[in-house]
Amino acid sequence: MNIILLGPPGAGKGTQAKRLVERHGMRQLSTGDMLRAAVKAETPTGLRVKAVMEAGELVSDEIVSALISDELEGMGRQTGAIFDGYPRTAEQAHSLDAILRDHHRKLDHVIELEVDEEALVERITGRYTCAYCGQGYHDKFERPKVEGTCDKCGHHEFKRRPDDNEETVRTRLAEYRAKTAPILPIYEERGIVSRVDGMADIDEVTGATEAILGFGQ
Ligand code: ADP
Ligand code: ADP
Ligand code: ZN
Repeated sequence: MNIILLGPPGAGKGTQAKRLVERHGMRQLSTGDMLRAAVKAETPTGLRVKAVMEAGELVSDEIVSALISDELEGMGRQTGAIFDGYPRTAEQAHSLDAILRDHHRKLDHVIELEVDEEALVERITGRYTCAYCGQGYHDKFERPKVEGTCDKCGHHEFKRRPDDNEETVRTRLAEYRAKTAPILPIYEERGIVSRVDGMADIDEVTGATEAILGFGQ
């Protein structure tokens, strides 16, 4: 099974993708995570995209589609793919069609997480992750069970993204509205779009998503 999680920054794509990975053995393909890894490792791609990401603008279609293609290359065909944060433009949507065709995969579902824009700034400015395992948290909505300790791996170090500030979030939301939301009709025409209320509790969003994907509880 191959699915796209679509929604503005802070909608909960990464949170839900990680749960599907844990529960159903799928693989998360997050272009944001891949780009951040490239920036950290100071690869040529990382050096090229750093400033663009910090400004909250989109990096080039060519770069992200190459990252996705490389990642699928190393994956067994039976492992389901969750595209998180990709595609973000019509050109990327068309590239994904070609990439999936090359890998003998087909797109089964596009799940749109519907959220109120006002809630997103609060979600993003409160977001942090475990520096060791990447588990996501939120100052208000998803605190670790034991303060200062990662639920998943027990480490005590957390980090925040440099682009998770209010000003950059506004740019990212504008990019989403202008370039990403307009790709939905491509998938609507194919009859594969489902909508989930992304304002519900994290567990409820997971339940609704699993129901769409046909996973029993
Ligand atoms: P995205 O990957 O779409 O940018 P994330 O999954 O990183 O979004 O979620 C953004 C922040 O909001 C995180 O800190 C996460 O813990 C929190 N969050 C995610 N889903 C919900 C939800 N349904 N309700 C409240 N907070 C949420
Ligand atoms: P969010 O969690 O807010 O949805 P991401 O982690 O997906 O954000 O992306 C962070 C940044 O990385 C984006 O603001 C953009 O600069 C870049 N980026 C990630 N994915 C893409 C993509 N598919 N196309 C272009 N730029 C991307
Ligand atoms: Zn951890």
